[in-house]
Amino acid sequence: MSTSSSTTGSGTTDGLPFYGHVIAGQEVPSIDGATMASVDPFTRRPWATVALGGQKEADLAVAAAREAFDSGPWPRMGFEKRQAVLHRLADLMEEHADELALADTHDMGKPVTQAHHDVARSVWNFRFFADHARLATGDVYPMDSGHHAYTRYDAAGVVVAISPWNFPLMMSTWKVAPALAWGNTVVLKPAEDTPVSATVLARLAVEAGLPPGVLNVVHGYGPDSVGSALTSHPDVDRITFTGESGTGRVISAAAARNLVPVSLELGGKGANIVFDDADVDNAVHWAVEAIFRNAGQVCLAGSRLYVQRGIYDEFMTRYKAAAEALVVGDPKDPATQFSAALASQEHFTKVKSFFSPESLGGGTVVTGGLLGGEDGEGWGVSPTIIADTAPDARVVKEEIFGPVVVATVFDTEDEVVGLANDTPYGLNAMVFTENLSRAHRVSGRLKAGTVWVNCFFIRDLRAPFGGVGDSGVGREGGTFSREFFTEPKAVVMQITR
Ligand code: NAD
Repeated sequence: MSTSSSTTGSGTTDGLPFYGHVIAGQEVPSIDGATMASVDPFTRRPWATVALGGQKEADLAVAAAREAFDSGPWPRMGFEKRQAVLHRLADLMEEHADELALADTHDMGKPVTQAHHDVARSVWNFRFFADHARLATGDVYPMDSGHHAYTRYDAAGVVVAISPWNFPLMMSTWKVAPALAWGNTVVLKPAEDTPVSATVLARLAVEAGLPPGVLNVVHGYGPDSVGSALTSHPDVDRITFTGESGTGRVISAAAARNLVPVSLELGGKGANIVFDDADVDNAVHWAVEAIFRNAGQVCLAGSRLYVQRGIYDEFMTRYKAAAEALVVGDPKDPATQFSAALASQEHFTKVKSFFSPESLGGGTVVTGGLLGGEDGEGWGVSPTIIADTAPDARVVKEEIFGPVVVATVFDTEDEVVGLANDTPYGLNAMVFTENLSRAHRVSGRLKAGTVWVNCFFIRDLRAPFGGVGDSGVGREGGTFSREFFTEPKAVVMQITR
């Protein structure tokens, strides 16, 4: 099947639209014709049929990317031309925003308004990195010895990008955009539960004029499938991965065998700290966003809430009311703020396990809980606040990745910093206070890749993004992405004889 300028999926015998791999600029089925269904978690029915690849498709995609890097025009066309092509792709994504947003909404159940936000951010990923690479400067080292040294940032080569299901398009483009802007070629493997937006993106990339083999998409599973085939492939130069910490360990080991640099953005258990002097309205607003946006299926979720004793009762009353006021409904309805259906049955089963008495550690469910029955509620969890939990309970310690927050009261700054840092994760934390000194002091003491003060989720793509400890290895964003997706080279010239 060749790639057409229309991104509407072709029909299959099951009547569902079909989304193929995109390899060397062509949209293709698997060699053996294998497919997988993408299930809409709200209806719990398949809504699309997707090519299911394996070792052969991974090999073909890497070969296409290798060829495009080693002898194709992309790494050689220069920043300005690449910038123009990537902006054209961003334009096309804007034109196809509804299709892209609905793909993620069908695939994983996020409210369509939030999916549109993801599309806008994905467009910005391309625009930002296209401009950033074009405008970036190198370093010059004036040397006393009569020599002159400077850096070049040469494209690294073939990049494998493996993305998770919670922000399918946004996480994929966060990797693909800087890799392409710096002149690399890419093989993208989206998560098996959320494959569709990646094929749509690759179709648009062909339409935008990306040469064949520059952006390839291969669908399939992780272990013993496309994922492991890509991460252990000897012709790959970089691996960028976002997903669970356990998967990160496996991928890191595979990359180490080939001595391939790897960037890992992994899980989290974000602490959200609200001091007595906080603006309570603002803190409640962000505490809702921090755990109920995307039904808490967010690596950055503020899943551990610490509230100082002086405002604890007032805060919890208002927080509970705000959680209960969220408009729950069909994710395709623009009025819906919270879609209770989690991304898949498997994920629902995992989140459900946290509601067992042992996992709750004596905690009480202040509001929310498991849903059942009606359409959209089969894999449903409503906005859930848990309080009075033992500090070592499973709900406090492990990443739940659902709309479940554990609230804990604290008295002193030292105490809450200790609690917040008592985790193997270190992706992010939030601090709510009107005390300027405290804001800076506590931000400095928190073990986290990002600290948000009096806000959440706000990003500047120039800033480093990544995690400490089990939350990841390396940083991406701005020049941090450049360091990863290029081979910095020192050139030393003699200028006096
Ligand atoms: P996951 O680790 O199960 O899967 C992520 C991707 O890895 C998928 O594409 C999957 O097919 C692939 N994969 C799985 N096993 C593999 C293997 N052995 N070899 C190669 N590829 C393999 O993660 P998920 O469930 O899709 O996503 C949720 C997790 O991602 C959460 O832990 C969340 O915190 C994390 N996450 C982190 C960030 C961040 O920026 N730090 C952002 C989003 C999500």
